[in-house]
Amino acid sequence: MTFWPALTLGVIVALITLGAVAISTALEDVKNRANEPTDKPLVMHMHVALRIVINDEFVIIAGNVGIDPALYKTHALDRYGIKNPKTYPLHTHDTSGVIHIESTELRTFTLGQFFDVWGQTFNEKCIMDKCNDSLNKVTMFIDGVQSSEFGEHVFRDNETITIIYGQARGQHPL
Ligand SMILES: [Zn+2]
Repeated sequence: MTFWPALTLGVIVALITLGAVAISTALEDVKNRANEPTDKPLVMHMHVALRIVINDEFVIIAGNVGIDPALYKTHALDRYGIKNPKTYPLHTHDTSGVIHIESTELRTFTLGQFFDVWGQTFNEKCIMDKCNDSLNKVTMFIDGVQSSEFGEHVFRDNETITIIYGQARGQHPL
């Protein structure tokens, strides 16, 4: 006689679980739709130059970051981007190191957010696969002036950002 109540309880638990899954899936759909690019016109269009030098060698900044699905590693800011073709508000078109900041809303964007969509590491300890050790350090310069903002740096139009990894020289080496 204990079998049926146990089965009923099991069915109730299963139904509640299914209901919770259905609700969370629906909420996820709403969230994803709210994060899709819109037809709004661009209200921001800035360019910054990014240079990365690792052990005295320039690193190629990939083209089509934020456009090529293989170089589109987060969708966190999709709602500020371009609908067709789907383009992240932070993107590159070529390997010149020019980052395009094109947004349908006026807001701040950070250097860290560009590295996020590129799928590369950048912080005060590491640039890409290179991390600080006893000899080598990550340093960064904004228009030639050393900065400690790293990924928190907010993009400003027409600036040049230089990230250097290697033996500390105590000066801008470029
Ligand atoms: Zn542009």
